[in-house]
Amino acid sequence: MMVDMQSGKPSASASTARGADVRSERLYVLWSIATRRHLSDEERIQAILEESCRVLGVEVALVGELREGQYRIHYAFDEMGRFPVGMEMPLASTPCQRVVESGCSVYLPDMPDDPAMKDLPAVTLMNLRVYVGTPIWLGSQFWGVLAFAGAQSHGEDRTQENLSFIELIASWIGSSLLQARQRFNLEKLALTDALTNLPNRRAAETRLKEEISHARRHGVSFILGLIDLDHFKLINDRYGHAVGDEMLIGFADALKSYLRMEDWVARWGGEEFIVCLHTGDMDQAELILDRLRSEIGQKAFQTSVGDIHLTLSIGLSRFDPASCTQDTVLADLDNTLYEAKASGRDRIVSDRKSRGILHTATLLKTAVSENRIHAAYQTIFSLGTLQPVADEALARLITPQGEIVPAAEFIEAAEGLGLMADIDDIVASQTLRRCARNLASGVTTRNFVHFINLSPQFLARHDLVGKLLTNAQNYCSQCGIEMDKFKPVVFEITERQAIQNLDTLEHDLRYLLDFGFRLALDDFGSGYSSFIYLARLPISFLKIEGWMVQNMQSNSKVLDLVKSLVAFSRNQGIVTIAECVEDATTLKQLQEVGVDWAQGYHFSRPALDLGQSPPVSQIPASLS
Ligand code: GH3
Ligand code: MG
Ligand code: MG
Repeated sequence: MMVDMQSGKPSASASTARGADVRSERLYVLWSIATRRHLSDEERIQAILEESCRVLGVEVALVGELREGQYRIHYAFDEMGRFPVGMEMPLASTPCQRVVESGCSVYLPDMPDDPAMKDLPAVTLMNLRVYVGTPIWLGSQFWGVLAFAGAQSHGEDRTQENLSFIELIASWIGSSLLQARQRFNLEKLALTDALTNLPNRRAAETRLKEEISHARRHGVSFILGLIDLDHFKLINDRYGHAVGDEMLIGFADALKSYLRMEDWVARWGGEEFIVCLHTGDMDQAELILDRLRSEIGQKAFQTSVGDIHLTLSIGLSRFDPASCTQDTVLADLDNTLYEAKASGRDRIVSDRKSRGILHTATLLKTAVSENRIHAAYQTIFSLGTLQPVADEALARLITPQGEIVPAAEFIEAAEGLGLMADIDDIVASQTLRRCARNLASGVTTRNFVHFINLSPQFLARHDLVGKLLTNAQNYCSQCGIEMDKFKPVVFEITERQAIQNLDTLEHDLRYLLDFGFRLALDDFGSGYSSFIYLARLPISFLKIEGWMVQNMQSNSKVLDLVKSLVAFSRNQGIVTIAECVEDATTLKQLQEVGVDWAQGYHFSRPALDLGQSPPVSQIPASLS
C-alpha cells in the first residue's frame, strides 16, 4: 500500500491528543540523540536507527544507497545480523523498489499477502511482514532509502505518525550524510595537490605524525625517501612551465605505480616528493627507490614537445622509534638529499652512507664563511727554456685543525651546494692581489701569467664578475706598470656540468675578454671540454688533460692525438700546456712533440702563498 503524506487524517479527537503526545515524545528522543555531543556521525546514525526500531516496534532498520540497480547497506540495525553493512542486494528484489518507483514513502503492512511482495527474499527467507520505506535525499539527489521492517504487523492507527517520523529521520540522515560528503570533499581539496592529485605536504605531515605514533606504539621502524627532480628549473626554462607541469604529473603517476599498497607518497614541495616505506630494512628501501631512479633515468619522459630526459636525486632516512623524532628524521632526510645533490645528482643516498659527504658539506660551508679557503699555486714551466713562466691557482680548504684539503676532495660538493662561485671569487681575489704584489715588488714580470679557474656558476654571477673587474682595475692602476693589450691573468674554463648554454657562456665571458684577460681551455681530452668550445670561444691556451699526458708513452693513439692538438694549436696561435707531468721521460716526450709549457709534480707541487697569511700558523708551505 502506498501512502500519500497528505492523506490518512486521524478519525477522533482522543486519538488526536494521543497522537500529539506520541509525536512530541518521538521528537524528543530524536532530538536528544541528534544533539548528543560525544557521538560521532556514524554512532549517531546508528543510535537513531536503534531507537527508531524501538519506537516503531520493528526489528530491522537500514540506510542503503541506490547505485546501479543495487541497494547497498551503509548503516544497519538488525539484531539477527541478516543485513550486514556493505551488503548489496538487487533493488528489484527488495521492497525499496516501491519507494524508488513512487519517489515517496511506502508503507506495506502485510507483505506475505501482497502478490507483488510475497515472493521476495525478505518475506520468504527472512520472514519479514511489515515494511516502511522513505527516500533519503542528499540535497537534490535521490541518494537512497531508509527502510524499516518487522515480523509483526502492528495497528494502522499510527501510520501517519510513523510515516512522519521516518521522513523526519530520513531528512536528518540525508543532511548528515550531505554534510559528511561536503566535509570529505573539502578535506580532500585541502589535502590534495591540485596538479598531481597526490596528497599535499599538509596531508603528508599529518600522515607522518600518524606513522610516528604507530611506530612508537608497535616498536617498528619505517623509511622515508625524499625525491627531487634534478635541474628541473632548466626544464621549465627551456620548455616552459606547462611542460614542466606535464612532467610533474607524469612523474607522480610513475611514482605511484612503483610503490606497494602499504606505502604512500605525497608532493612535499615544488619538485620534491616524499615517500614512506613500511619497512625498517634500508637495503630493501634502496632497492625499490633505486630501481625507480634508474628506470626514470634510462627512459626519456614523453611530453607534448617530445621526449625529455629526467634524472632524480633521492635521500633516504630511517625512523627508528628508540632514537628519532619527527625533526631528526626530516633533518636527516634533507641532509641525505643534499648529499645526493652535492655528490653529483642522479643517485640515492641513505643516512647510513651519508656521513662522509655530509661532513665535507659542513666543512666546506664553514670554511667559506670563516675565510678558510686559500689558493695554492703550482708553477708552470716553459718546455723550451725550462724556466717558470706562469702559475695556476688551486683552491685549498684549511680545516680548523690546520689540515689542508685539496680541491679534488670538495669541488663536487661545492658544485652541488652552489658554493663554486664563492670559492672562485675567493681564489680569484687572492690571485689578483698576489699578481699585483709580485709585479710591484719585481718578483715577477708582466710576462708571468697567473691561471685562475672559473666555473660557469661564477661567470653567471654578474655581481661577482663586476667585482673582479673593479678589483683588477684597481690593482692595474696601483701597479703602475705599462701593460700591453693582454693582462697577465688567464681564466681557465671547463665544462663539469652537463647542461650549459654556449651562447650564455660567450656572453658572460665578454666583459673579462674586453678587459684584456685571456682564456685557457682546461682538462682538454677529459670529456669535460669539447671541440665545440675550442671552435667557438677565443681560446689562447689549451691545457692537455693529465690522463692523456700520462698515457702518451704507452698508447700511440694518445700520442697521435697530442701531436695533432699541438699542430692545431700552433696553427691557431694557441699555447699548449701539459698537465700532470710527473717524470723526466714524459717531459722529454712532450718537448719532442712540441708542447709549449708544462706543470706537474716533476717540476713542483702546489704551495700556499704564505704572503697571503693563511689563518693557521702550522700550515706547511709545500703540500704532499
Ligand atoms: P636541483 O638539481 O638542484 O634540484 O635543481 P633544480 O633546478 O631542480 O632545483 P631548484 O630548487 O633550483 O628549482 C626547482 C624548480 O622547480 C624551480 C621551480 O620553478 C620549479 N617548480 C616548482 N614547482 C613547480 C610546478 O608546480 N610546476 C613547474 N612547472 N615547475 C615547478
Ligand atoms: Mg628542489
Ligand atoms: Mg630539483
